Amino acid sequence: MTEDVDNWEEDLEEDAVISLVIKNLNIQKQHFSELHPLAKRVDSDKLSTSAFRQKVALPCGHQMPADYVVAWFKYYLKQKNTDFFCPGFNDVKRKTCGAKLSYQEICQRIPLTDKQREFLEENLAALVARRLFDFKTCPGCRSYVERRDRSNLCVNCTICTANMKRTYYFCWNCRREWKGPANNAVRCDNNGCGQRARTSDPLKPCKPEMKKELLRKEGEDIYPMKDKSPDRKRLALLINNVEFEHINDRIGADKDERRMERLLEGLGYTVVTLRDLSALGMLAAMRDFAQREEHVQSDSCFVVLMSHGDASGICGVFDSLSSDDEEDIFQIDDVFNSLNTPNCAGLRDKPKIILIQACRGDREGSVDVTDGGPRDRRGKEHREKDFCCLRSCTPDTVSYRNEETGSHFFKDIVEIFNEHACQDHIEELFRKVIKKFKEKHPHQMPCKERTTLSKKIYLFPGL
Ligand SMILES: [Zn+2]
Ligand SMILES: [Zn+2]
Ligand SMILES: [Zn+2]
Repeated sequence: MTEDVDNWEEDLEEDAVISLVIKNLNIQKQHFSELHPLAKRVDSDKLSTSAFRQKVALPCGHQMPADYVVAWFKYYLKQKNTDFFCPGFNDVKRKTCGAKLSYQEICQRIPLTDKQREFLEENLAALVARRLFDFKTCPGCRSYVERRDRSNLCVNCTICTANMKRTYYFCWNCRREWKGPANNAVRCDNNGCGQRARTSDPLKPCKPEMKKELLRKEGEDIYPMKDKSPDRKRLALLINNVEFEHINDRIGADKDERRMERLLEGLGYTVVTLRDLSALGMLAAMRDFAQREEHVQSDSCFVVLMSHGDASGICGVFDSLSSDDEEDIFQIDDVFNSLNTPNCAGLRDKPKIILIQACRGDREGSVDVTDGGPRDRRGKEHREKDFCCLRSCTPDTVSYRNEETGSHFFKDIVEIFNEHACQDHIEELFRKVIKKFKEKHPHQMPCKERTTLSKKIYLFPGL
């Protein structure tokens, strides 16, 4: 048992390092009102909307909505980046600003809610800790265990060992209780360990002959799509509003998000996913996305919006059911305007595919007479081309998003794209989605909107 004593001393040392890291991240402990005297705190977890709606001035000179900055920071964390990079467009350099800010600098500028702070700090700490140490969760007790010997997959969990009153080892590779001799760099003796679990990609690839044949037959009527290469840079923007200040959270929407990310990545797009934006945040996201220099090297783009909505548009996270002062609605018109010919040179003549899951929530009773359609919806279509848009425009939210499995809309889109994108063009894929709704979901009917395609869009998955 002398071994254990040695380990124990090492443990203390390492714990000290981790707690120091976390302490350093936790620098901002002043009371909220001292930092932002103009903003009133509503309750422990929610900030006054007006405080959060103020634009934040960054040292690079860019100003942007606070929720937009937070959403980007979360995105960077997801990419395993501990810093924030300004997503604003630099007019002089004609490219995305990219000025770097640390978490501390963000904290000094934005009145983070306790929840946001907790989320960011926990994720930052885990990222930093993981850079320093080799961590995984123990399959027995779910606690973090560090692997000391990087050449051995057999790892001891002290918590499980104490609980089970026998030495417990698990396999770093397959995350099951260890089987076989206690030293192995390649695999344990559990079935299947060491073999790559190749979950087959559900997205059916397009065969090169098929592409050739399609181009030969209808080449003139197909949008030019670039072949896979390092020079091809496809971008997709996904905005997913899940947690709302006044309206019900959209439980299950994370499933839609992951499903769509996987599909779009499979189709060769780099997906920028931003969560929980206000209407101003969404507008900033659209405008910055339209300016991304990658579009020049792209052949198309996807924009996916997921939120509550009403007749006039898509709900930002601060929208309120009861009060007009607290209206936070993003106009779908702004998606089209941001990406149209005058405003998005990089995507000129290239197809832009818009998917919107926005429902009416609990609003039936309060929708006013403008129900027939948002004002000012038409009139700009001549500036607009090469768009296609599919919406799940239905009156009742709750029945169309399963809290366990996500929405029918994205589930069906992903299933149909996976199966048929290898041979069908987008409008045919949309037709198949609509047909599926007609057959399977009698209460909901997605609809195509503002589609201005002059050619067919084939996605040629895998090519
Ligand atoms: Zn900037
Ligand atoms: Zn354990
Ligand atoms: Zn194993």
